[in-house]
Amino acid sequence: MTEVLILGAGPAGLMAADVLAQAGVGITVIDKMPSAGRRLLMAGRGGLNLTHSEPLPQFLSRYDAQPKALTQAIAAFAPSNLQAFAADLGEPCFTGPSGRVFPKSMKASPLLRAWLRRLGGLGVVLRLGCRFEGWTDKGAVRLVGGEGGLQEPRAIILALGGASWPRLGADGQALEHLRAAGVPVQPFTASNCGVNLDWSLGFRTRFAGAPLKAIQVSCAGATSRGEAVVTPYGLEGGAIYALSRQIRDAVTETGAATLWLDLKPDLSESEIRQRLARQKPGQSRANRLRKACGLAPVLINLIGEAGPHGLDEAGLIKALPLHVCGLQSLDRAISSAGGVRFDALDASLMLVNKPGVFVAGEMLDFDAPTGGYLLQAAFSTGAWAAKGTLAYLQTAPPPLALYHTGQIPRSAV
Ligand SMILES: Cc1cc2nc3c(=O)[nH]c(=O)nc-3n(C[C@H](O)[C@H](O)[C@H](O)COP(=O)(O)OP(=O)(O)OC[C@H]3O[C@@H](n4cnc5c(N)ncnc54)[C@H](O)[C@@H]3O)c2cc1C
Repeated sequence: MTEVLILGAGPAGLMAADVLAQAGVGITVIDKMPSAGRRLLMAGRGGLNLTHSEPLPQFLSRYDAQPKALTQAIAAFAPSNLQAFAADLGEPCFTGPSGRVFPKSMKASPLLRAWLRRLGGLGVVLRLGCRFEGWTDKGAVRLVGGEGGLQEPRAIILALGGASWPRLGADGQALEHLRAAGVPVQPFTASNCGVNLDWSLGFRTRFAGAPLKAIQVSCAGATSRGEAVVTPYGLEGGAIYALSRQIRDAVTETGAATLWLDLKPDLSESEIRQRLARQKPGQSRANRLRKACGLAPVLINLIGEAGPHGLDEAGLIKALPLHVCGLQSLDRAISSAGGVRFDALDASLMLVNKPGVFVAGEMLDFDAPTGGYLLQAAFSTGAWAAKGTLAYLQTAPPPLALYHTGQIPRSAV
């Protein structure tokens, strides 16, 4: 018997299903795609950075504005709980040199397979090819496709993801249905995405794919350290993603942003100046920079792309200005910012204007960098929404109406 219907079979929805099914609640999970967890599998291609090992206060500070319900959810199902959860599914984790946590297999598929097996054993029913399309005029939840005959549940958890990489399932349409139903939402925008730079064609062609290692990047007063990689349009990588909000805000306001690259963050400007002064005269510029500071060819050539600046070489090495003329689109972003606003929800993640309907995962309005913070938030809010749902079920609520058409209407195909 379906007591709770979960919409979305990503990490947030499956975690909610796990917590509720372990508590003996009858669960059906639906998803519009032909298989579950497609984005999780895609994250597995990069080694599946599940979470991060830094202390919890520091961990929580990575989330913009730190919404209270989100931080409560993460404190309740913390990075250590996520590691124990993965180990329980046969996927023990390790911590990399940067503090990021990965399963030892560096893959998502064994974890997802074991998880779906466990959920099946707990009686969770998975219905694929079935799409959530908002609410009918009479207030029934509208589902299209898949087999018909779904029972009316006592509660619903929406875990329909964000809007990046839409071909993996979550395409932002669900948020439009919520907006149409009067739920306060923040439009999705690209986060953790590449930046477009006005570099010469020669530089981009020659260095596309080259890594910029151990750099420091600053934008609008925020700073990040790490790596980036040159692409045919500009830069991608963790050091850039960490400044997503600052870059996005500047580009939205003025159409452009300036990034300041420190190519040698562990050397002071005066030390660099002294090293350059010690070089023998008559050498090429590339040789001087390489010998004095150990700069890779890509960094040496990058200095030549800086445009007018009025700085000497040492000044440029410490603060190389890059002019961002745009961001890569949602289609190419790792995640999306925006979603269901926290003021639309109570502390248990239930929609204030729709009793019995909870929200979890990336469809919540939060933003965080890569580093394991995105998946941790999806798992934690899934578990938190499930706990809220359990408490709600104790109040013996009435069933929620469903309007389920088994066939996808021609107009919607
Ligand atoms: C390339 C890539 C790499 C990533 N790597 C990492 C990483 O290493 N570490 C990290 O922390 N994060 C990573 N992420 C982000 C992470 O995968 C997401 O934050 C996470 O999957 C969000 O989980 P979710 O359950 O909220 O949403 P999703 O995983 O998107 O799941 C939502 C589900 O809802 C379904 N759905 C959507 N709309 C409907 C509808 N109308 N009806 C029915 N079903 C619907 C979708 O088909 C989907 O299965 C990566 C993302 C990408 C794209």
